Amino acid sequence: MDTRLSYRALGLRPGDAHLVRNAGGIVTVDALRSLLVSKYLLGTREIMIVNHTDCGLMKATEEEIRRRIEKQAGVPASTPVTFHAFRDVAENVREQMRKLMTHSWIADTAIRGFVFDVEDGHLREIRL
Ligand SMILES: [Zn+2]
Repeated sequence: MDTRLSYRALGLRPGDAHLVRNAGGIVTVDALRSLLVSKYLLGTREIMIVNHTDCGLMKATEEEIRRRIEKQAGVPASTPVTFHAFRDVAENVREQMRKLMTHSWIADTAIRGFVFDVEDGHLREIRL
């Protein structure tokens, strides 16, 4: 979701890749839905999980985020919400890679993980 991470930052041109974006680069049920459409309906053969340094979801715990929003909204959430806060960006990438590699409809796809450094614009590959 980070605005510093764009097609251009990744060296991509329009038409090169589908970007499925969300806070934290998490393989949620909805992100998985988009990846399945990308793979099976549109022919995508490789998936990159890209997280980034200085991510907002690393700066607070799940409870702190919940408290902050509840204070601003003035009411508790009407349905359960999970923010997927994390501490270690590399480990978060590995966790998302594992989710894809163990999914029966995705497991045969090339999956690589990266951390985008918002300071210098470099991508660092993350190995399992
Ligand atoms: Zn982020």
